[in-house]
Amino acid sequence: MLSVDEAVARLPTVLDVVEGSESVGLAAADGRVLAQAIAAPLPLPPFTNSAVDGYALRGEDLPVDKEKSFSVIDFVQAGAPADFAATAGKAIRIFTGAPMPVGADTVFMQEDVRVAADGTVVLPFGLKRGANVRPAGEDIAQGQVVLKAGHRLRPQDVALAAALGHTHLEVRRRIRVAVFSTGNEIVSPGAPRGPVQLYDSNRFMLLAMLRRLGCEVDDLGILRDDQDATAHMLKRAAAGHDLILTSGGVSTGEADYVKAAVESIGSLVFWRMAIKPGRPVAMGVIDGTPFIGLPGNPVASYVTFAYVARAAILALSGTAVELPEPVQARAAFTYKKKAGRREYVRAHLRKASDGSAEVIKFPREGAGLLSSLVDTDGLVELREHVVQVEHGQSVPFLAYSSLVG
Ligand code: AMP
Ligand code: MG
Repeated sequence: MLSVDEAVARLPTVLDVVEGSESVGLAAADGRVLAQAIAAPLPLPPFTNSAVDGYALRGEDLPVDKEKSFSVIDFVQAGAPADFAATAGKAIRIFTGAPMPVGADTVFMQEDVRVAADGTVVLPFGLKRGANVRPAGEDIAQGQVVLKAGHRLRPQDVALAAALGHTHLEVRRRIRVAVFSTGNEIVSPGAPRGPVQLYDSNRFMLLAMLRRLGCEVDDLGILRDDQDATAHMLKRAAAGHDLILTSGGVSTGEADYVKAAVESIGSLVFWRMAIKPGRPVAMGVIDGTPFIGLPGNPVASYVTFAYVARAAILALSGTAVELPEPVQARAAFTYKKKAGRREYVRAHLRKASDGSAEVIKFPREGAGLLSSLVDTDGLVELREHVVQVEHGQSVPFLAYSSLVG
């Protein structure tokens, strides 16, 4: 059985970054992976400007040990150039984002000055030269590489590309994923359900998680528990997809045909991982297309998606495979576990009376309990060597928001 770290480390070695890129408009770029680095064709800000609404003047005129009165010779608004240069003993009314007048290098905030009845401004002493000014290039220097190839774009990255004047970005094409559920007991919501059948929940969860990762998804329905039919459908899906994702049918039960089907038409890379909930997680290759078989229990499916499938998609996208970093919180529960496997405990995060973060374990442990995912905020990660958690102990907590997307 592989450890979580060993399995994740193995992924990039069997997964090649997909080929192909496309140009997308900025409005469609969030979540996409950059195919090319982006350098700054201009500095940011592009020109030196005022950071506040106030009064600009020359640094050499700054009041040193007592307040000083200045007449106001001009008025500069954002979007228009200053008409006059700053001169000795004069101030210029200026607004946030307006270009600094020639000669001026310091701005007084309007809140800090007094305007006299005759229109002159009285400026206090003590302000430093250069205060409240944003020099050209203070944020980004011209020519600087601001975003690297392989970076997954977030809203702030798109904002930076826009600020640099880009209209379109070259991004890797979306990863095409085929998704199947498996099991004779599983039916789609909307289809007639026999008394001993369940509605399929995994497929909709996995489709949603894949979309959050920017994948193009193909919902290929439910596979019956039949090795030949499963092998046939998996082989068909291998053509035209970058990844095949299934849930169920990979454990050691006699009706677990998925593993056998993959072995009959391709090869298995691994099929068990020392993770709870989870354990049966199969990774294989069919006609050159990677295959990942997640366990059928919904919670196990969720957790192993977050660790294995997500990492596989990042590897296929050519973006760095980084496992989410937990934050420390105080355990408001006790727990015992076996050494040698990684365990993820569903937990609710709350603010303790002293304001610090505290996690409370969901009262039950079944890997089939969807309510345990719905009613909690994330997972407490108990690494392989841990055997127990004591009340008040600091534990690593991963919010669901860091696990999906
Ligand atoms: P399996 O790994 O196929 O043995 O499935 C383990 C458990 O997960 C069984 O109780 C299945 O009924 C359940 N299960 C499998 N697939 C799904 C699914 N798509 N939606 C909901 N439950 C499922
Ligand atoms: Mg099954």
